[in-house]
Amino acid sequence: MIVFDLSCDGGHRFEAWFRSSSAFEEQGRQGLLVCPHCGSSEVAKAPMAPAVPVKGNARADAPAKREQETTSQGGALPPAIREAMQKLARLQAETIKQSTYVGDRFAEESRAMHYGEKDKALIHGKADAKEARDLLEEGITVAPLLIPFTPPDETN
Ligand SMILES: [Zn+2]
Repeated sequence: MIVFDLSCDGGHRFEAWFRSSSAFEEQGRQGLLVCPHCGSSEVAKAPMAPAVPVKGNARADAPAKREQETTSQGGALPPAIREAMQKLARLQAETIKQSTYVGDRFAEESRAMHYGEKDKALIHGKADAKEARDLLEEGITVAPLLIPFTPPDETN
């Protein structure tokens, strides 16, 4: 097996294993090489990282190096997860459009609605972990926003 560092035309780097150097070229010709980050099939061997065939007797020092590479790619997400995150981000954006931003008054507003002092409405705002826990203990449903969100009063 040979591992190649590959990169796509979008600048993503990833590595892939091939049976042989010719298997890599063959898959490339057939358009079977696809970037796992963006799906681009404009994939070539990454510059600056010459492909080194891993021979049986060269395996000894390979695992440590490969672990390092994996760590450095920690920010990359498999396409399925990326798609799910995008879907989630869209849903969250839709929800926020129908929701009122209450900032630091989140806990206060949530309680007011829960105890019937205010009409129920969808709100979002700031709560620290303790506030969120207190609300949950009082039986008030709160959920963290899963996608980073910039509060309107912090945009500049
Ligand atoms: Zn890519």
